[in-house]
Parts: sequence; structure tokens; C-alpha cells
Amino acid sequence: MAVYGWIGLGNMGGPMTTNLVAAGHTVRGFDLDPEAVSEAAAHGVETVGSIAEVVAGADVVFTMLPRGEHVRAVFGAEDGIWATAETRTLLVDSSTVDVETSQHCHDLSAQHGFRFVDAPVSGGISGATAATLAFMVGGEDEAVREATGRIQPMAGTIIAAGAATAGIAAKICNNMMLFIDLMAASEGSQLAEQLGLDPKVFWEIASVSSGRSWAQQTWYPMPGIVESSAANRNYDATFRADLALKDVSLALDAGERTGVKLQAAQLARQRFEQLIDEGFADKDCSLIVKYSSPDGGA
Ligand code: NAD
Repeated sequence: MAVYGWIGLGNMGGPMTTNLVAAGHTVRGFDLDPEAVSEAAAHGVETVGSIAEVVAGADVVFTMLPRGEHVRAVFGAEDGIWATAETRTLLVDSSTVDVETSQHCHDLSAQHGFRFVDAPVSGGISGATAATLAFMVGGEDEAVREATGRIQPMAGTIIAAGAATAGIAAKICNNMMLFIDLMAASEGSQLAEQLGLDPKVFWEIASVSSGRSWAQQTWYPMPGIVESSAANRNYDATFRADLALKDVSLALDAGERTGVKLQAAQLARQRFEQLIDEGFADKDCSLIVKYSSPDGGA
């Protein structure tokens, strides 16, 4: 059994640490939000009040934080991970961040004598709860191998993506494709309806035809078609609009840096911005379907 340190006990970190505890590991957790802390404590996490206490004696330390700036702060602060951990401890960042932040963590970890891997996840809160997350892992082979063993109790799939930042690069590209597919499912569902098709019959046709996608299969933005769709629950979030905007913006920033033209992703970003401007930041991002409906107000 191993000792895990964990920083960021939110929607994802909470259930992920619950699964580590259930697998028999010791987990020491830290979060700035008292509610997240008490929720984790109720699930068997030993909650502590500082990063130094999280990392003390840990075999591995995970970070599961909102954005790049939080990750940089938690690693680099005077009382942060690099300053307080022992160099034998493997460092794993599972947050969705920009490639530059991830590279910075690889570089500075190496300078401080640590092994670091980027290991972002796909599968959402339901995957975190069911321990079926897909992890995409980037870093040096030996560190990736060790991280794979530590990740196992939380994962359905673990893929070694390549060298430093390959995991986060894969995550950013994957989510961009997901949001473009969500746009396609939104527009397709609305056009099919306006052309007089039975929505369920059209969904079944697309399911065995070339319009099939993960978004179409599990996230179809019309009520009464796919059980897992947020459309059945007044668009209560399974993937919040503000997080979708963050992820698609990471892809667009990477596109700008590399010269790749990402026009469909740009349109997705406009739709998510529109949702947030209208006060729907915490609603499911599939609510963008309303901008395709004839009376939805694009
Ligand atoms: P969240 O906001 O629910 O949780 C993040 C936690 O980090 C919060 O509890 C916050 O208090 C804590 N935190 C922030 N700064 C901190 C600091 N300096 N020290 C300690 N704790 C700090 O977010 P989440 O949904 O758990 O997502 C975490 C990461 O995983 C994000 O990068 C997100 O993009 C990514 N992700 C989320 C999902 C999802 O479906 N929610 C899916 C895949 C990936």
C-alpha cells in the first residue's frame, strides 16, 4: 500500500481520492475550500492544513487543480511542492492546463531533482466516481511506468502518450474534437427536427451511420433520446460551460502558437462565451443547442 499526497479535492479530486482510499491506500489531502475538505474527510482522506503536510513521506503527489496558474502556485510557492517534498516522491499533475504550464512543471521538477509526469484525464465526474477515467500520461519512460501503477485504482484506461507534455497535448486536442462533435450533434438534431424527422429515429440512423460520435451517442442535446444527456435534466451540468470554454481556449491558444487554423473550434468558443454572457456558466455546455434552434436566438 502506498502513501498518496493529493492537492485539489474538488469535483474530480474528491471521487478520485475516494477510490484510492477504497483500494487501501493512505491519502493525505489538501484544499483551500473547507467544504471540499470535509467531504474528502468523510470518505476517508486524511485532510491536512498545508502542502508540507501533504507531501511529508508521500510516495506520490497528485495535483487536480482548476487552471495553470493554480498548478504553478502550488508547485512553485515558497511553501509549495518543490520546496517541501522529498525528491524520491513522484509528482503527477492531472489538471487540464496549457502546454506551457506543463512544460514549466517538467523543467522545474527536473531542476529540483524530481520525476514529474503530466497525466490529465477524460471521463468526467462519472468516470472519476466509477474509477473508469482515461489517463493520458506524458514524461520519461521510467516515471510514466511508476505513475501507471499509482494511477491504476482510479482508471479504466491508461495510455502512455509520449514524452513531456504529450499527455496534456492529447487532452487538449481530444476535448477540442469533442466540442466540435457536440456542435455537430446540436446542429444535426435541430435540422433533423425541422425537416420533420422523428428525433429518436434520426438518432438511431446516425448511430449506425457516419454521423455517429461520442457526443452524439452519450450527450445528444435533445430530451428523451439518450439517458445520459443533460438535456433530460434541464441542462444541469455534466460538463460546465465555463470549463468547456477553458478547454477549447487552450486548444485555440495552442493553434495560434503553432499556426494551425481552428475555425470550428473558434465557433465553439463563441457559443460557450455566449452561454456564459447570458448567465449559464454553470449549466451544461450542450445548452449551445439553443443557438441552432430556429427560435433559440443565435
Ligand atoms: P473543481 O473546481 O471542482 O476542483 C478544484 C479544487 O482545487 C477546488 O476544490 C479548489 O478549492 C482547489 N484549489 C484551487 N486552488 C488551490 C490551491 N492553491 N491549493 C489547494 N486547493 C486548491 O474542479 P474539477 O472539476 O475537480 O477539475 C479539476 C481539473 O480537472 C480541472 O483542470 C478540470 O479542467 C479537469 N477536468 C475536469 C473534468 C470534469 O468533468 N469536472 C473532467 C476532466 C478534467
